[in-house]
Amino acid sequence: MPSKTDKRVTPTNGGPLLGDPTDGIDPYLPKNGNLGYRVSRYELDLEYKVASNRLAGVAIITATSLTRLTRFTLDLATSLTVSRVSVNGRRPARYSHRDNKIAITMTDALPPGAAMTITVKYGGSPRPIRGPWGEVGFEELTEGALCANQPNGAASWFPCDDHPSSKAPYLISITTDSPYVAIANGTLARKRTKAAQTTWVYEQVEPMATYLATLQIGPYVQKTLSSRPVRISAVLPERLSSNFAHDFGRQKQIMDEFCDMFGPYPFPAYTVVVTDDNLEIPIEAQGLSTFGANHCDGTRGSERLVAHELAHQWFGNSLTLSRWTDIWLHEGFACYSEWLWSERAGEETADALARRHHRALAAGRKDIIIGDPGPASMFDDRVYKRGALTLHALRLSVGDEAFFAMLRQWTRDYRYSSVSTADFTDLAARYSDTSLSALWQRWLRQKAVPEFPGD
Ligand SMILES: [Zn+2]
Repeated sequence: MPSKTDKRVTPTNGGPLLGDPTDGIDPYLPKNGNLGYRVSRYELDLEYKVASNRLAGVAIITATSLTRLTRFTLDLATSLTVSRVSVNGRRPARYSHRDNKIAITMTDALPPGAAMTITVKYGGSPRPIRGPWGEVGFEELTEGALCANQPNGAASWFPCDDHPSSKAPYLISITTDSPYVAIANGTLARKRTKAAQTTWVYEQVEPMATYLATLQIGPYVQKTLSSRPVRISAVLPERLSSNFAHDFGRQKQIMDEFCDMFGPYPFPAYTVVVTDDNLEIPIEAQGLSTFGANHCDGTRGSERLVAHELAHQWFGNSLTLSRWTDIWLHEGFACYSEWLWSERAGEETADALARRHHRALAAGRKDIIIGDPGPASMFDDRVYKRGALTLHALRLSVGDEAFFAMLRQWTRDYRYSSVSTADFTDLAARYSDTSLSALWQRWLRQKAVPEFPGD
């Protein structure tokens, strides 16, 4: 299904398109994202020095103008320095780099529908972007680095149109010191070692949102866990191998159960990265998930999160929200997937988990609207739990057969595209004999916690 991206474009007279808070890019992240063009491909040629935390990059962004364009912007953190910009092989009339935006002014205006090849040479010491959600983006590890961009950290390491509905394929080439393993999204297309450095080139064919792009560099070993239904591999420090074998021992079973419930796994492979450092939370990227050493301590205490991160490959990565308002479409679904895995594993049922979390929600603060939690609360645990309860209410309302058929149609019809709550409620209506509008109103649009569904 076509992306809904174009909806956010208001034709203009070619005036400034500078991500002004009033331009309606995304009410939750008004400074991110850009107007006037649509990116169709990113090519990132990066070199990273682990010891000094130095990044040097050339980004080639292929795009199409959507309006007459004399001036346009890209997101890039000002902690990095831009040394050269060209558009279609020509230097622009001028460019500036301020407040995490590169603003490019062309000598001659581009007509609507014009092909654009934007080349940006840049570099520096990357560091995360600080915001209401803590530090996101490029993060230096004790030995190596990772990128966990959600929601607005992508610009900490590459110039981009940083908006979740702006999805595109990527080619990521990363050169680093030879002893280190370097991982990026997609499939390893080639790898070559020259002197003391190795270049790893990854091709990410399926369109990807900027916040799901990642680099993972560290003193890792790579292991294949399974080749069916897709290749599952692990990237981790050797010292954690035996913990990993136990803690992630059911990774393939989780994959099998999710493919059964949600439809085919959407990407060619899945990689689990475990860093040598502890991480506060695991994080999803397209085609891979990152866990900390603390999630791999030999107790299998984080299996819930192993299921959660895998579920994001369907809910968040293949089907990506158009606006952060609809974050429950990612986190509610991933949380409900944890409960579904528990049920399929013969442990606590989804219903029992739903009841437990419902009691906790009913006893807690009731000041959040799950269908529009506000930017400060978009990663509030209640979005996850009540989002999952919304799905449980739907499941109880339409029955198991319709519920799972609907989930599979959801992942099939909107594969690789952008989605909204309205897309989901429209689809759900086709699986229900009765109107679901009261259900959505109760669960997504009001602060009060509804009665447990069916009670
Ligand atoms: Zn999540």
